[in-house]
Amino acid sequence: MRVRLRNPDRLLEMAGPLTVADLLDRLDLLPHTVLVLSDRELVTAGHELADDAEVEIRPVMSGGASGAPTCAVCRAPAVLEERRHRAAWCATHLVDHVHNQIRKAIDHPPSGAPGERMCSYDQRLLVAVSGGKDSLALWDALVAMGYRVDGLYVGLGIGGYSARSQDICERFATERALRLHVVDLAETYGYSTPSGAGAAGRTACGVCGLSKRYAFNRVAVDHGYDVVVTGHNLDDEAATLLGNVLRWQEGFLARQRPVLPATGRNQVRKIKPLYRLSERETAAYCVVRGIDYVVEECPLVDGNTGTELKEVFDLLEHASPGLKAQFLFGFYERQDRLVDASVEETVVLADCGRCGMPTTGEVCAFCRQQERILAALPVLAAAGREPR
Ligand code: SF4
Ligand code: ZN
Ligand code: ZN
Repeated sequence: MRVRLRNPDRLLEMAGPLTVADLLDRLDLLPHTVLVLSDRELVTAGHELADDAEVEIRPVMSGGASGAPTCAVCRAPAVLEERRHRAAWCATHLVDHVHNQIRKAIDHPPSGAPGERMCSYDQRLLVAVSGGKDSLALWDALVAMGYRVDGLYVGLGIGGYSARSQDICERFATERALRLHVVDLAETYGYSTPSGAGAAGRTACGVCGLSKRYAFNRVAVDHGYDVVVTGHNLDDEAATLLGNVLRWQEGFLARQRPVLPATGRNQVRKIKPLYRLSERETAAYCVVRGIDYVVEECPLVDGNTGTELKEVFDLLEHASPGLKAQFLFGFYERQDRLVDASVEETVVLADCGRCGMPTTGEVCAFCRQQERILAALPVLAAAGREPR
């Protein structure tokens, strides 16, 4: 059989027949860290791969796979198992499961006033899409669930990776007749993520994160959207929480909520409806819904410590399925008791003197960063060291 491994891409020839579990064992891959596709269909641990099968193994970062090979709802052959749910689903019921988890997150968020939903059907939502599995799965699900939701893609200028991501987002929107806003960092603000990082002397992820957060809010304000929706999932949020606890970052702990209400002018409510779903579930959802997404990682991801925390957490999750969800949901339940909300409440927002967006000072962090970058870029160019 031909086995295609992703990230990095490589092709192997293996003799079959083999079960998926045996194949993964031979390749020394942990089952819960990958999805296995045979002839473009998801297959589970006990599935037997023929000698002439075309197999693809896609990395995902979390979850758990074992046991039940039949759908928990209809008993048809399952396409995905999740150890933390002690359940498996066929393609149809996997879609229902993902929609149900999003429904639960939207209708019963752990923070906010009792009975207050993340968003409503009459609001205009803007989902930030990167071309990856989470944000495209989320856009697809929200549309299927009947919400009014447009997309926003921020072009970061990260070479071929950004070009491929933008192409995927544009095709996703065109094929479904959805509206996609595209903001190119270089065209709009004068720098790309790599050049900005070089000029600011910061990590690429630092420059990138601040620029994206600013662009999401700015586009939402400029176009009158009520809510910004992001594709942060259970793995992202659990790893962020672990990092915030390890460093005792009280301000971040107070702000780490799946709903961040708008607290002033020119600020749009932010929500994370995927916080109940693992990366594995969103990746599988994309496969069964026929959503093409960028499988490759951002090449600058090494500067992102969240990735290391996810890897550590994956080892714990493997030993104890459900630990991530217990950690994150348990924190949300206790957050008001554990974290001093006054850390956040004392923050007074004003309008940025340059762009008018909210800031705690006179000029917002984004404008200060942009000014620093635009001042440094010509100097670097003159010295022949212009970062690309
Ligand atoms: Fe931006 Fe870092 Fe994410 Fe790449 S890994 S998209 S640089 S935040
Ligand atoms: Zn089923
Ligand atoms: Zn500003």
